[in-house]
Amino acid sequence: MTLTTVPFDDDHFHEECGVFGVFGHAEAAALTALGLHALQHRGQEAAGIVTYDGAQFHAHRGLGQVGENFSSPAVMERLPGNAAIGHNRYATTGEVAIRNVQPLFGDFEFGGLAICHNGNLTNSYQLRNQLVRRGSLFQSTSDTEVIIHLIATSLRRTVLERMVDSLRQVEGAYSLVALSKEGLIGVRDPLGVRPLVLGKLGDSHVLASETVALDIIGADFVRDVEPGEIVVINESGVQSHHPFGNRPSRFCVFEYIYFARPDSIVEGTGVYEVRKRIGMELARETPVEADTVIPVPDSGVPAALGYSLESGIPFELGIIRNHYVGRTFIEPTDQIRHLGVKLKHNANRRHIEGKRVVLVDDSIVRGTTSLKIVEMVRQAGAKEVHMRISSPPTNNSCFYGIATPEREKLLASRFDTEGMAKFIGADSLAFVSIDGLYRALGEVKRDPKAPRYCDACFTGDYPIPLLDFEQGSLATNLSLMNEIA
Ligand code: AMP
Repeated sequence: MTLTTVPFDDDHFHEECGVFGVFGHAEAAALTALGLHALQHRGQEAAGIVTYDGAQFHAHRGLGQVGENFSSPAVMERLPGNAAIGHNRYATTGEVAIRNVQPLFGDFEFGGLAICHNGNLTNSYQLRNQLVRRGSLFQSTSDTEVIIHLIATSLRRTVLERMVDSLRQVEGAYSLVALSKEGLIGVRDPLGVRPLVLGKLGDSHVLASETVALDIIGADFVRDVEPGEIVVINESGVQSHHPFGNRPSRFCVFEYIYFARPDSIVEGTGVYEVRKRIGMELARETPVEADTVIPVPDSGVPAALGYSLESGIPFELGIIRNHYVGRTFIEPTDQIRHLGVKLKHNANRRHIEGKRVVLVDDSIVRGTTSLKIVEMVRQAGAKEVHMRISSPPTNNSCFYGIATPEREKLLASRFDTEGMAKFIGADSLAFVSIDGLYRALGEVKRDPKAPRYCDACFTGDYPIPLLDFEQGSLATNLSLMNEIA
């Protein structure tokens, strides 16, 4: 073990995650493991489950994927109880340490509370510094622990009151699932940036980041948890609270573009259909003479289908993906990221050779993927390569829980579209417009005064104040033990 100081790192607290919770089922832990498995795309770095059996809490957490941690009967037997919550973690950089694996658990005046969240708090450094000054001893570098300490130091009485008190001090985008002896609690941030749905399986209730986690256990979708809503689920059913007032929702548009699974229904709209419609918009906005439309798998597939449908240019799987390699973003260094891309994709040469190819992907972030793919398609004999992207240029970092790098590393902040085309080596490059994106989502266009979605990564319009970032808060008290787990 070594002692290190963790410097302020813009990437450091950014977590994309999946959350799940169930109340009132004898197999709560098994259902949670299955739900987390369906949400594996939201985080592969670590997984954890906490159960409550009416008297005691039980926890198991581990680094790696759900299957690696929750497939052994011996582990599942140690998680009894009819209520459970679980979490998949995906952090961009920094610590892969067991103490950061959620759900976190605390023993409070009112009893135990396990808590996990998806998203990112934008004032967590400031709150953390204040709490440390007042004597809180932090065990992890996770945002979730800030919420735990705020609950612990609240002078309110009940779990719910303390949670509301705590969340009033917090800024950020989060979907939170917690478990106390009073029941299962679900919260969405006041703008509803991150997703959370409510489902039902027989008499038990389920909370999950996405509907695919309901599908896997055969639960029925009931509704989305509303922005700013707190649901408390126990033997008396589901009680809903709206302590933060009603503000217009600003759901994360990138969930539709890339992050959510295509078979999920988000806020009433199928992700797959949206992606296909974006591809159709893209074909209308940026047509090109070509012989074949090829998706960058898997993220580009629905949009490429839409592009092909609208343009009439035949769709082919000209690139095949090896499914046994993780997402390229998970590997921390640039060198390995390059290697990751090569490991992941292979050209299906017969469908590329001698052809004018339209390549479709969902986004360009650093440009690493596009650069490699274009080179690969050229090496496979393409006559022309036209890259089409089913999102506007990603110009700005996300501070609300999608893992994007600092602004300087975003290709779109370094070059204009022509410069980007040159960088990735494509004959042409085009992105769907922001209005085209909104049209694909059923709007007439983006209303700049009241946009329907959080689209800060494309527009720079951040709906939640970036307090830590703007005030350059340094995490001065983050002296942490480096654990090798
Ligand atoms: P890059 O290679 O940095 O340009 O990343 C673009 C590729 O990464 C695209 O193929 C996207 O599907 C994928 N991608 C976009 N955003 C993310 C994210 N937040 N996490 C993981 N992969 C992403």
